Amino acid sequence: MVKPLIAANWKMYKTIGEAVSFAREMVGQAGSMDDREIVLAPSFASLSAVAEACRGSTIRVAAQNMHWEERGACTGEVSPLMLLDAGCAFVIIGHSERRRLFGERDKGINLKIQAALKHRLNPIFCLGESLEERESGRTFDVVEKQLERGLNDISSHDIRAVTVAYEPVWAIGTGKTATPAQAGEVHAFIRKWLAGRYGESAASSVRIIYGGSVNEKNVEELMATPGIQGALVGGASLEVRSFLGIVRFGNNG
Ligand code: PEP
Repeated sequence: MVKPLIAANWKMYKTIGEAVSFAREMVGQAGSMDDREIVLAPSFASLSAVAEACRGSTIRVAAQNMHWEERGACTGEVSPLMLLDAGCAFVIIGHSERRRLFGERDKGINLKIQAALKHRLNPIFCLGESLEERESGRTFDVVEKQLERGLNDISSHDIRAVTVAYEPVWAIGTGKTATPAQAGEVHAFIRKWLAGRYGESAASSVRIIYGGSVNEKNVEELMATPGIQGALVGGASLEVRSFLGIVRFGNNG
């Protein structure tokens, strides 16, 4: 059984002080939950301070991006070695904002996933279709290409450490959530693709989570949908109260 994973993507919000005080509060309120994985993804600047605040708890820390090289003349970039040094266990790769605003392509995303796995950082590999792609009936084609290219050369051993985050671009930060039926069918498609590529056993250890306007109100319904094994949360992860409401899915009633 894979544990569900709930990750907070804080994007370019929170100073170091704000991030640490949030992390401390989360540790106090949810830092011993062990039937689910809770992950905080602050900015690069806050990583080591947040990791320190989470030390001794079950809460893990993720970076929001990284370079695939270990070191080099790459001004402004951060390497897998640096993330490990800062205390990260996870790294978000291929977020749609990275693809759209910073021109990230599948090839580079694949190099990053390979580098993360080499260094035993657990990649959270984001993919999903735009509104235009959905409306023109291309959702499955787009998702399949992203899977094929993003996971190129990833072995059936290494794939077990990957979390796939299905994040329809039209649902990110828009308040429009995919319905459980819409998300569920793409999750099933991803699972089937993974089983075809890696076999049932490896595919069943890959966690597939959903992202796109998840909040305290819709989390129960989403998490009750077959195939949805967690959530990547942006806006609703910025306040402790709302993020706790999501993290405690299944215990809120
Ligand atoms: C995200 O940034 O990955 C995300 C899902 O954002 P939001 O929850 O705000 O839609």
